[in-house]
Amino acid sequence: MSARLEVEILTLFPRMCEGYLAESILGKAREAGLVSVTVSDVREHARGKHRVADDAPYGGGAGMVMKPEPLTEAIEAARSRLPGALVVMTSPRGQALDQALARRLSAHGKLVLVCGRYEGVDERVLAAVDMEVSIGDFVLTGGELAALCVVDAAARLVPGVLGNEASAGAESFAGEETFLEYPQYTRPPEFRGMKVPEVLLSGDHRRIERWRRRESLRVTRERRPDLFARARLTETDLRLIDAGDDEL
Ligand code: SAM
Repeated sequence: MSARLEVEILTLFPRMCEGYLAESILGKAREAGLVSVTVSDVREHARGKHRVADDAPYGGGAGMVMKPEPLTEAIEAARSRLPGALVVMTSPRGQALDQALARRLSAHGKLVLVCGRYEGVDERVLAAVDMEVSIGDFVLTGGELAALCVVDAAARLVPGVLGNEASAGAESFAGEETFLEYPQYTRPPEFRGMKVPEVLLSGDHRRIERWRRRESLRVTRERRPDLFARARLTETDLRLIDAGDDEL
């Protein structure tokens, strides 16, 4: 049986990705066959003794640009190994990665993630690409971290990857509405004078539920007014948001 999510990463620096992919939840998911990730070296498609994959930009300017032939051929080879895959170029110009996009990519099931380097890639490579994805309004030295962000965010949505299925359901951005997660605590009940909220120790699951919802609303209002303004709040939410602990 093939994995629920199959990914191939195309990079000039495979070792940058391999360590991250081998550890913790992703490593276990790969071992369990729930997710498969292969990392391919774009340089294998570069020609000549020195397998050069970059060249100076036409028109001048700083830095080097990834040549179109090796990358395009690497993408075509990956497409033939993963028929039906969505080919995603990592790029600061791309669609912003958010939880909705992570869900879409995860549901697609087959992804080829292309990592740029240097000043970027020759524009003509985009003819072989389905979409461009950015992980934020900043510039990295290469696409590897962006590709790993996509793999990580998409893989943890595959059923069975997280030990506890509820984990992905309750956290930030989980539902249709994007609220941030409520604060989490674990033992000890008191640390350096800071106590775990009494409600969480009460064993009263309905109160705990309401406390979490209230905190989630409050944190979102405080830290992400943009998300909060877009949310459709229920009557209960409006009552809850300013309620004290004794009113939960
Ligand atoms: N000159 C390009 C520009 O100004 O848009 C930046 C190139 S960047 C130094 C090299 C590569 O890193 C890009 O081709 C892309 O693959 C990756 N990269 C950099 N920032 C990224 C971001 N915010 N999201 C996704 N990929 C990014």
